[in-house]
Amino acid sequence: MNILDKIYKAFNWVSGDIAIDLGTANTLIYLSGQGIVINEPSIVTRSVHDGKVIAVGNDAKAMMGKTHRGLETIRPLHDGVIANFNMTDEMLQGFIRKINLNRLARPKMVICVPSGVTEVERRAVKDSGERANAKEVYLIEEPMAAAIGIGLEISKPIGNIIVDIGGGTTEVAVIALNGVVSKETIRIAGDEMDESIVQWFRNEHKLDIGIPTAEAIKITVGSAMRMKAETISIKGRDLISGIPKVVDVSSDEIRQALKDPVNSIVEAVRKALEQTPPELSSDIIDRGIILTGGGSLLRGLDQIIRERTNVPVNVAENPLLAVVQGTGIVLENLEKYEAVLM
Ligand code: ADP
Ligand code: MG
Repeated sequence: MNILDKIYKAFNWVSGDIAIDLGTANTLIYLSGQGIVINEPSIVTRSVHDGKVIAVGNDAKAMMGKTHRGLETIRPLHDGVIANFNMTDEMLQGFIRKINLNRLARPKMVICVPSGVTEVERRAVKDSGERANAKEVYLIEEPMAAAIGIGLEISKPIGNIIVDIGGGTTEVAVIALNGVVSKETIRIAGDEMDESIVQWFRNEHKLDIGIPTAEAIKITVGSAMRMKAETISIKGRDLISGIPKVVDVSSDEIRQALKDPVNSIVEAVRKALEQTPPELSSDIIDRGIILTGGGSLLRGLDQIIRERTNVPVNVAENPLLAVVQGTGIVLENLEKYEAVLM
């Protein structure tokens, strides 16, 4: 072992190029030669007094809703836009520090950003990668990365339709010949479902619940279609008296609570289909719609899209990993994918 290798080993430094899925809900990092090394929520906890970042990712999520007045937890990419540059940067730096990359190396970086981000925001993300010591930073749009991640042949003159339902945004993209042919983005996805559940409990049960509880309800009993009935007990705070109370609700009620965001997602898919050039429409009917992103795991969502569009629908094998896998493939084959980089 030469002296440099000994130093790296002593510091537990790892080396390699990195691919990042900078999602509104979750950030995932792929390290070349190793695979996915970070898969954590896109959350930061900071001090209100001096703005100092206390925790990122899982550590920050654990503090959500439990912080005192001196601390706040924020989601810098809430709503699918980079709502807070500095915090996005701090979060990225925090995650990259967690991997413990060799401080002397200059890795290549591919970062996948929500496709709604502006030119200024893209520049900011690139700068952020450079501050993390990257030699070169390439950006890629989310639907492209998702398509590559699930193994679609995006360079062919064949139309594929990808619907990525994340935390902040649903992006519907028709892809062919290494490009996005048509696109429909709405700021309604998983977060909006959680908010609809919170609202439902306030209106129907005068019960105040937090977002993390609403998300847990969505994941355990939420659905887009009628399913086998289940009942669960929800703990919250009575809106009027302010004291804790428990309410029993059925899964059917949660389905009703989710109706608006589900309808909006279905409408976005329909709209994208309408805008698709006829030559590609026939490919899509043959090949179907592919759903990615965590929101696509809502039970029955694939089925309702199928019923309302008459097009076959499939959920990707690992919907939460498709984007980081695609970004990783691009990182390992930069020349081949030059056309899709920004
Ligand atoms: P982003 O790319 O915006 O970071 P993700 O693809 O990581 O988003 O998806 C996050 C969203 O997926 C969250 O709103 C989360 O609640 C939702 N989600 C994760 N698992 C499930 C599930 N089993 N059922 C329904 N929604 C889910
Ligand atoms: Mg995503």
